[in-house]
Amino acid sequence: MTGNFDDLVAVVTGASRGIGRGIALELAKNGASVVGVYVSDKESADRVRVEIGANVDMVRCDVSSEEDVKALSDMVMQKHGRVDFLVNNAGIHQHLKSWELAEEDWRRVIDVNLTGTFLVTKAFTPAMKEQGFGRVVNISSCIAYMGTDHEVHYAASKGGVVALTKSLALELAGYGINVNAIAPGYVSTDMCVFDSEEEERKALETIPKGRLGLPEDIAKPVSFLCSEGADYITGQVIHVNGGLLMY
Ligand code: NAP
Repeated sequence: MTGNFDDLVAVVTGASRGIGRGIALELAKNGASVVGVYVSDKESADRVRVEIGANVDMVRCDVSSEEDVKALSDMVMQKHGRVDFLVNNAGIHQHLKSWELAEEDWRRVIDVNLTGTFLVTKAFTPAMKEQGFGRVVNISSCIAYMGTDHEVHYAASKGGVVALTKSLALELAGYGINVNAIAPGYVSTDMCVFDSEEEERKALETIPKGRLGLPEDIAKPVSFLCSEGADYITGQVIHVNGGLLMY
């Protein structure tokens, strides 16, 4: 049991697939009205709309575009008049060595993962401040803590999300808004691909729980962070990784 979210409104970015889809389903299951964001995969977004049913809107919005984000927040405020939970989950990655990265590769990953988290948070926190209540959950990554030898821009963006989370928590605690992050390990989604079975086996050997995470392994802690039971938790990073990293 994570909470009763009847009459509460949740915005979840990257809700068309993977972890974000799992989060949208979990929050809706607990009663929240969900506004899910996608950017290009309308088919998957439509499937989530059908899975959740009445209490969901799926909205196209590029989180790295201030104009798109403004249209999203206008839509949410016009329809619901409030926003209680914001889950900044949308993200992209790219397997390249640092010396293979063009400046535009670097910028795109930072723009979506870090600037997108900032822009969407900036758009919704004024309403939360007015309400005197809000829960923001940012999705970082264990890679922010462990580093990686094949996507430095992704690692830097996720480290930035951790610093952003702590700083926003300080700014917003006095307004009744908690800001936390979750740092997942390997989670079985489109983003988590292995070049070979051998590579996957090696990865599994590093996970004490002996399996990859599932979207619901992340969705339930997100739901907890939104619940009353997490009222005194802010500025924290919860590591959800099957024991891969004990921080
Ligand atoms: P995924 O399956 O690739 O899904 C990514 C989601 O983000 C999709 O819904 C996608 O929308 C959306 N998205 C991408 N760019 C966007 C943009 N510019 N504006 C709005 N939405 C955008 O990824 P995932 O594995 O679920 O990852 C979700 C989050 O968890 C990411 O932040 C990722 O970095 C983090 N994470 C994942 C893992 C893992 O092992 N999977 C581990 C640690 C952290 P479309 O469907 O329209 O493309």
